[in-house]
Amino acid sequence: MIRILGFTIIIFLLGSCNLTKANKDSEPKKVKNVILLIGDGMGVSQIYAAISTANKTLNFEQFKIVGFHKTHSATDYITDSGAGGTALATGVRTCNNCIAVDTLGNPLKTILEYAEENNLATGLVSTSSIVHATPASFIAHVASRNDYEDIALYFLKTEIDLFIGGGRKQFLHRKDSLNLIDSLINRGYLVSDSICHIPQDYNGKLAVFTAYAHNPYIKEGRTNILPDATEKAIQMLSKNEKGFFLMIEGSFIDWGGHDGDINVVVSETIDFDNAIGEALRFAKENGETLVIVTADHETGGLTLTDGNLHDKTITANFSTDHHTGVMVPVFAFGPGAEEFGGIYNNTEVFEKMMNAFGFEK
Ligand code: MG
Ligand code: ZN
Repeated sequence: MIRILGFTIIIFLLGSCNLTKANKDSEPKKVKNVILLIGDGMGVSQIYAAISTANKTLNFEQFKIVGFHKTHSATDYITDSGAGGTALATGVRTCNNCIAVDTLGNPLKTILEYAEENNLATGLVSTSSIVHATPASFIAHVASRNDYEDIALYFLKTEIDLFIGGGRKQFLHRKDSLNLIDSLINRGYLVSDSICHIPQDYNGKLAVFTAYAHNPYIKEGRTNILPDATEKAIQMLSKNEKGFFLMIEGSFIDWGGHDGDINVVVSETIDFDNAIGEALRFAKENGETLVIVTADHETGGLTLTDGNLHDKTITANFSTDHHTGVMVPVFAFGPGAEEFGGIYNNTEVFEKMMNAFGFEK
């Protein structure tokens, strides 16, 4: 009986060791860099509209891990980009129009702020103004997304290494007459109006205002600003040995939805896909970079009622000029990507990024 018991115990211990190993292997791997790409207003229909009409296979189709997140805010079934951005940036659902504050107005620490605290390089890139709701959710703490001039002040309260987008107006022509461009220069930023003007070997902090307000749409003549800015941001931030966090926003997929303009939706989604291509190209070479592509919500209730894959045409119908409540897709590539499969809350995108980095709250 004793021998049988002893044998049983040995089996149990071996089993226990195997269990420990299995747990260790299934822990999310730490990653050095996270590139989060947000297509504002980009649901499955927007992506498939672009896939159906593009002259090439889109980078979206490279991802092997795809999930969905639920987009509602703390107060509404239909979120806005403030609450949507805040959920992704801070892991907390808040009221619509709020920017990285909770429903009581208390500031919420963002993934960009955690990255700074952990000595990573940080960057924000947007086709809209850099003080617009989505990028603002990663850096500012205000109760109203419309307080653009207050949001601009936060760019001087943080150690952000690089930002590229529109919004020179809120830094230069302000009601309080402050010149935040001078303040940025005094803090050591190189301030420019184009990434083409940045010396190739420049290593310092960088602020690029590509427009006074927002950049134009692709259909209005915008060139490759977003993919080029993505490439430049990655090239500069990746010089930090500790790693980096970079958020890239394709802002105008949403605006096309509000406008009921399928050409804007498609052209902006294809442009955003080109930025995804830059992120994937770096991540594949680098091996320690997690790329996450998602949206804050869907815009327009877009339906593809017909199409022709040979002619690359679609028939599109928008059911609303506002946002909708449907889940939006999440695509992930790189170490820890498998954590992004399944259906979860928008707030969990933040938690998964924190786990991937190995950051403590
Ligand atoms: Mg936005
Ligand atoms: Zn919108």
